[in-house]
Amino acid sequence: MGPSSRIVIIGNGVAGMEAALLIRAREPQWPITIISEESDHFFSRTAMMWVCCGQMNHQDIEPLQRDAYANANLTRIRARALGIDRSAQQVLLAGDHPPVPYDQLLIACGSRPRPGPWKGSQATGVGHFVTMQDLEWLEDEIHGGPASTRAPRHDAHLRASNPESPYFKRGTALESRGSTSSQPAVIGGGLIGIEAIEIMVAAKRTPHFFIRDEWFWPIALDTRESRWIGERMEQHGVQVHLEHEIEELVTDDNHRLTGIRTNQGEFGADLAVVAIGVMPNTDWMANSGVELHPRGGIPVNGSQATNDPNIFAAGDCAVLPWWDGTQRPEQLWYTSRDQGRVAARSMLGEKATYQRGLWYNSAKLMDIEYTTAGFVNLNITGERNWYFEEQGSVRSTIRIVTLSADDQDNGNQSDHNQGQRVIGFNMLGRRWDHSILLQWIRERRSLQWVLDHLKDASFDTELTPPLRIPKSALQQEPIAATARKTNQPTIEPPTFF
Ligand SMILES: Cc1cc2nc3c(=O)[nH]c(=O)nc-3n(C[C@H](O)[C@H](O)[C@H](O)COP(=O)(O)OP(=O)(O)OC[C@H]3O[C@@H](n4cnc5c(N)ncnc54)[C@H](O)[C@@H]3O)c2cc1C
Repeated sequence: MGPSSRIVIIGNGVAGMEAALLIRAREPQWPITIISEESDHFFSRTAMMWVCCGQMNHQDIEPLQRDAYANANLTRIRARALGIDRSAQQVLLAGDHPPVPYDQLLIACGSRPRPGPWKGSQATGVGHFVTMQDLEWLEDEIHGGPASTRAPRHDAHLRASNPESPYFKRGTALESRGSTSSQPAVIGGGLIGIEAIEIMVAAKRTPHFFIRDEWFWPIALDTRESRWIGERMEQHGVQVHLEHEIEELVTDDNHRLTGIRTNQGEFGADLAVVAIGVMPNTDWMANSGVELHPRGGIPVNGSQATNDPNIFAAGDCAVLPWWDGTQRPEQLWYTSRDQGRVAARSMLGEKATYQRGLWYNSAKLMDIEYTTAGFVNLNITGERNWYFEEQGSVRSTIRIVTLSADDQDNGNQSDHNQGQRVIGFNMLGRRWDHSILLQWIRERRSLQWVLDHLKDASFDTELTPPLRIPKSALQQEPIAATARKTNQPTIEPPTFF
């Protein structure tokens, strides 16, 4: 690479900012321009819920100081990118912004919400919870205005945007309704759906929660775990509706939401958060000649390069080969961060390769701690699940996924359950250190060994009574049972660890 490569980055989310700061740390003189439509400042999308619950303000969820751009000499443009002219090596912008020339371009444009496919999905009172503008819309609908102070210039992009943008704030039903929402609903039982439910519960509403599946969040939980979360939601007044297929979002003559019709009846609702997934936010670059996957993501190689060697992609918008042979985006905070770092190193001319590693995540579902690590709910051929439910002063569940052990596996050969090697953990109700759980998976530990050492991974506070698993439970065999829906096909075990 030449001494002065002009770097342009589309997106100031975690992927884009990590890349910008890493490049700046190595190359103090390279011009770096960051284009972001959504917000002036990098913010933690994963923490938006706390803002809408009124527990944090917008600045609290910004990981960097607001003078980070100035300190790192990063040029920032607040506008919508409308396309890429690859022959002229320029990014085209909305509004009166001139095109921005680049030598190397990183696309880190994230996800947009998947729109509802039903009649009435565009009604007033219907929205999502993915972007900063969605957050502001929901604050208005639930609180009548910001739950706490807003980021300055939150709508500064509007002169350089277009109405198709996911960062265009939806109109609220607040004015025509004459009040904030009294009967909200959430459609879609994934992590974003439950965050929207928590926001409504925190605002003392009793939302409807419509879930198409047999149980809440089947991609991550089994029936027993899900039942507990469902019970807790109902204790908070949530009206949980499982196995409901949405048919229509019912509206009045003013196109304002009044109800939700499912295959099981009609339910009154004056607000609906549609949380049925996200999709790569790449429609703006459809005619650029950068290859797009049929589902919209940007295919990249191990160095995060696209089909154009001067253009890289990282984060939610990038599509990578998965260990099960599919090509998909990853759509996680820490994988976006890691991909941003690899893209940066590639743009610096280093040999860098992105390695996905083992899956982990943690969250709070209502007030229940949740930690997952490794291969859970994938329906791997031959998998077994060891399960324990604690019902004392602390309520918790532990699910350990295993496969038959082979010669490479570690464990005390005389132990019960040593014939099972641990490949995944799903834990509710207590806090666990995922790094230790992942280490045990990598070390190919037996189930018995893991049960003997479980307390080493405990992250509970001092005052929490310690976990005690009765001997009878410790000696139970893991059962061969699918954790997912009965029609879920099995897949072959991963070979890379
Ligand atoms: C409510 C919610 C909760 C979540 N919770 C978790 C969690 O608990 N754990 C977890 O791992 N992940 C979670 N995620 C996912 C995680 O937030 C994302 O994977 C991550 O933020 C993606 O980062 P990114 O940098 O790829 O993109 P983003 O953060 O989406 O950033 C995209 C950037 O691109 C810019 N942009 C896009 N299009 C254009 C355009 N045309 N012109 C100009 N700029 C453009 C935007 O301005 C923005 O700056 C959650 C997501 C949501 C919505």
